Amino acid sequence: TRTISPTLTDDDALIEATLRPRALTDYIGQEKAKGNLRLFIDAARKRSEALDHVLLYGPPGLGKTTLANIIACEMGVSIKSTSGPVIERPGDLAAILTNLEPHDVLFIDEIHRLSHVVEEILYPAMEDFQLDIIIGQGPSARTVKLELPRFTLVGATTRAGLLSSPLRDRFGVISRLEFYTDAELATIVSRSARILAIPMEDDGALELARRSRGTPRIANRLLRRVRDFAQVRADGIITHAVVQDALALLEIDGMGFDQMDRLILLTIIDKFGGGPVGLDTIAAAISEESDTIEDVYEPFLIQNGFLNRTPRGRVATRTAYEHFGRIAPESPQRKLF
Ligand code: ADP
Repeated sequence: TRTISPTLTDDDALIEATLRPRALTDYIGQEKAKGNLRLFIDAARKRSEALDHVLLYGPPGLGKTTLANIIACEMGVSIKSTSGPVIERPGDLAAILTNLEPHDVLFIDEIHRLSHVVEEILYPAMEDFQLDIIIGQGPSARTVKLELPRFTLVGATTRAGLLSSPLRDRFGVISRLEFYTDAELATIVSRSARILAIPMEDDGALELARRSRGTPRIANRLLRRVRDFAQVRADGIITHAVVQDALALLEIDGMGFDQMDRLILLTIIDKFGGGPVGLDTIAAAISEESDTIEDVYEPFLIQNGFLNRTPRGRVATRTAYEHFGRIAPESPQRKLF
């Protein structure tokens, strides 16, 4: 498994439960999303109503699940969590919905992976708090309407564009989560270090933050790896130098890139002359799924100006060439970048 993959592992799940902030005030960064939610939560509470449905989108590990839990906490209600691929049949969703208490939060992770038939059940549930279920089969089949308590659906997805528009339109609040700044991530790892009783110096925290691809999940994971290193190879304290040595051992470079990032960029540079090259072609060349490249690796590379997404395919930028000590070719089609 990759140390810097933002995808959740079993190992993370346990520790993340400990590190997850419970109140909006402990949730660092994401000021825009937080400001919006604060307003809607306060208004809903004042009216003693359920909060409007909320869609959170952004790359994995940025805090969508955490925020869903905080919303429930701030509203003073329970949260039921599930995910798109787990709800296989309409009956599965019906069972979940009929078990909700008024104003409860239903969190559906990877909501873009709901099947079409399940999605159809969700529309009237979200809009009119009604469940249309079909009982029986063939000519004797009939539809029964069930009243549901008013609930809040919090959906999470890596890309809002993956949602069907009827589903997207039924969310009253849509918030995009952004990559964190180094300073925000340093605050997050410092807080985690405090909770886990790991001694860490401020410049150690900042260096860790700088190498965490703007992602709290990665920062918290690197913290644990670097702690192991500090205990075995140093005197247990995480300093700037300890972070540098530990990450060199893990082959994570100055930008926080690991082998996979380097493979993607160097494949475009060396095999495809810097691009443009189609996503599927890159995926085939490195034996990785296109979706994984697009959802997990690309957003950070694009945001930091290493990769461009053009109508004709992906292009490695001048910054990418320079990162690897290469000279970017000058050609008319590449001049744009
Ligand atoms: P996602 O659902 O977007 O994949 P999570 O909500 O599971 O991400 O976040 C991963 C971990 O990162 C959490 O367990 C939490 O410890 C940490 N985290 C995420 N966002 C924040 C934040 N804003 N402040 C502090 N810790 C955070």
